[in-house]
Amino acid sequence: MENYISISFLNDFIFCPRSIYFHNLYKSFDTSMYHESIQTKGRMAHKNIEEKKYSTKKNILQGISIYSSQYSLCGKIDLFDTDKALLTERKKKIHKIYDGFVFQIYAQYYCLVEMGYVVKQLCIYSLDDNKKYMIPLPKENKEMDVKFKELIEKIKKYDLENDFYPNVSKCRSCIYKNLCDCSLASC
Ligand code: SF4
Repeated sequence: MENYISISFLNDFIFCPRSIYFHNLYKSFDTSMYHESIQTKGRMAHKNIEEKKYSTKKNILQGISIYSSQYSLCGKIDLFDTDKALLTERKKKIHKIYDGFVFQIYAQYYCLVEMGYVVKQLCIYSLDDNKKYMIPLPKENKEMDVKFKELIEKIKKYDLENDFYPNVSKCRSCIYKNLCDCSLASC
């Protein structure tokens, strides 16, 4: 894998490690070429979030680039309130807090901490139904913290040539199913 792991890869890698390959391969293309409508709506919502000025207050950092040399991570945060030490990731509609969501906000947390910020609270916010989900810090949930670190190591060591067994239900809902040579979507 490349030296730095994009934070946006974490959730995709959990879904299917091979999706990272397509994510990389097609990232420079018009995503409407392969995204299905539901994913496109989610992406549009996130684009609108990114472009919207949430606040002009100096204590609100929005969309800043972050990195961690310790975990070889890079990406962007959504919102960070330096007064409250509160890091928030907004999503269009949350039906369930998946591990991948937690790992993404952990990744942002570790980057900010390494960059010298104090982060005391993590929140995932569901825009459509206005719900907040407070996520314990990594040090408050050792099990998830260990899983996060194992995930980073797996991504670093991942090789497309390794043995791979696709999951038919995942393939059927995968946005890359028409491009992937391992897809079982038509089974
Ligand atoms: S089509 Fe199946 S094997 Fe290919 S990337 Fe998607 S989930 Fe993975």
